[in-house]
Amino acid sequence: MALPKRRKSHAKVRTRRQATFRLRAVAFSACPSCGQPTPSHRACPYCGHYGDKGVVLRIRRKKEAKKQ
Ligand SMILES: [Zn+2]
Repeated sequence: MALPKRRKSHAKVRTRRQATFRLRAVAFSACPSCGQPTPSHRACPYCGHYGDKGVVLRIRRKKEAKKQ
């Protein structure tokens, strides 16, 4: 099995770890049902669709109705 010749310094390790520690811009894509720009991996804030799986916000409304 291959072994590293030298041990990585703390600075080298920290810079590699820090490379993933940053804020990234949210990726937007057009909603398949209403066409509005929607953050990916989120339910559409305009119509409540998540991808092509149907309406998600309708389920949430039912839960809120039960509480009241
Ligand atoms: Zn939508």
